[in-house]
Amino acid sequence: MSMASPMGGQPEALIAARNLSKVYPTATGAGVHALSDIDLAIEDGEFVSVVGPSGCGKSTLLRIIAGLDTHDAGDLMLGGTGIAGPSADVGVVFQAANLLPWLTVRENVRLPLRVGGHKGADHSHIDDLLEMTGLGEFGERFPYELSGGMQQRAGICRALARNPRILLMDEPFGALDALTRERMNLELQRLWQASHKTVLLITHSINEAIFLGDRVIVMSARPGRIIADLKVDIPRPRSLDAIIGHPEYSRLAREIRGLLNAQGEVD
Ligand code: ADP
Repeated sequence: MSMASPMGGQPEALIAARNLSKVYPTATGAGVHALSDIDLAIEDGEFVSVVGPSGCGKSTLLRIIAGLDTHDAGDLMLGGTGIAGPSADVGVVFQAANLLPWLTVRENVRLPLRVGGHKGADHSHIDDLLEMTGLGEFGERFPYELSGGMQQRAGICRALARNPRILLMDEPFGALDALTRERMNLELQRLWQASHKTVLLITHSINEAIFLGDRVIVMSARPGRIIADLKVDIPRPRSLDAIIGHPEYSRLAREIRGLLNAQGEVD
């Protein structure tokens, strides 16, 4: 669902970036130009994957959308309003789950509710999240008792605890073994289809980007610009076996690999 633009005219996407740029200051004064003229519109409920060479500004873009960093030029609107910092409407998942070791899984997942001052928070929602991600039996366990994949699932539950509209994921499965990563891809697809969240996923895996995305955004080497915005026209639910044999998958994978190779990086 698109938002009416406050300026009138074109309806506003849920995430709308226009000419977004970011320069990190450096001691020499030259600065690191991380992002340049990013134009991006993500609709409510879309799943958008982002790939690009290391250091091209992917994490910077995600942190700016999360309200954890600021941009220097251009506009960024979430749901028709500007960003003043981290918001309950945005959940973030990083490569490391960073669960607090002295809290149980359930307590870790509930933490954003406690920190956000949600007194008398709805525990059944937390139980649903744990159940939905296969952690129903593990709520009273401690992080060290969980595998890497399970810890990352708990991290996803924690990001969803405040029921955000937007889920931002920065290489969430990058530290997992290949088989666990495939399972997590399937679970994330299921979770996304059931929850109707808007997801922005940063990944180094072309497979993962295509398997999960409605669109794949390809970024250039630094300063990061968007060099392609490719629609993934493959029906859902997608299965890992079926997608590999799908002609659209091969075409997209070839195109993305070609674009990344031209930037000096192979997946
Ligand atoms: P990616 O996620 O695509 O690997 P990043 O967004 O992490 O890229 O970084 C983009 C560029 O900005 C890199 O050159 C990185 O070194 C630089 N950078 C990132 N964060 C900072 C920071 N806090 N201060 C200075 N430079 C930074």
